[in-house]
Amino acid sequence: METPSTLPSSVLADRLAAVRQNIDAAAHAAGRDSASVTLVAVSKFHPLSSVQEALAAGQRVFGENRVQEAASKFPALRATYPDLRLHLIGGLQTNKARDAVRIADVIESLDRPELAEALAKAADKEGRLPELLIEVNTGDEPQKFGVPREKADNFIRTCRQQFGNKLQGLMCIPPATQDPVPHFRLLRSMAQEHGLPVISMGMSADYPQAIAEEATLVRVGTAIFGPRPPSP
Ligand SMILES: *Cc1c(COP(=O)(O)O)cnc(C)c1O
Repeated sequence: METPSTLPSSVLADRLAAVRQNIDAAAHAAGRDSASVTLVAVSKFHPLSSVQEALAAGQRVFGENRVQEAASKFPALRATYPDLRLHLIGGLQTNKARDAVRIADVIESLDRPELAEALAKAADKEGRLPELLIEVNTGDEPQKFGVPREKADNFIRTCRQQFGNKLQGLMCIPPATQDPVPHFRLLRSMAQEHGLPVISMGMSADYPQAIAEEATLVRVGTAIFGPRPPSP
């Protein structure tokens, strides 16, 4: 038997490199610096070993939907990777606010006054407040998280008063069956109107388009980690 002269390349590392290349290309095509786009690797439902593989390949920013799953994977990794950044991107229940505030660097799914209240209280108790993004339900879909469009301006203003510069920007998940670009444009114009620097939009299927529309965070799961296992 021959010994292979090089280690087999990791599929995950290859996929991650391909996504990074696509980000560079999309940023370049839009006349943007690719350093202005942060890749959030969405590791929800994938095992800790996949997160470790991505870390070994240089990825540092991760996204998880559920507080409990994030809490079981990420805090222990911070000792080895102090520059790791955890984003919570899923709909958040008020009774999870304290855990969320304890473990997250960024919470992307602030979408209602009761949650703002719960996060503010949790921040008092924990002595830390993650950066916050307001999730806007740009398609006004009844089953989705996110503040409805007609309530967004007021909610953004109130959160600005309450959280100051910890309120960093906006996030959206366009309706699955529609062209995402009008939703990306709407989110961008809302962020610009309110002077918010962070625009989180674009997933595996559409992150290059989101970058063309000025996304500063793209949340990519499947294109990096492969198909998701069933939810645990
Ligand atoms: C799961 C998820 C993603 C990643 O979706 P992919 O299509 O796998 O890239 C991005 N954003 C949010 C809010 C998600 O829940």
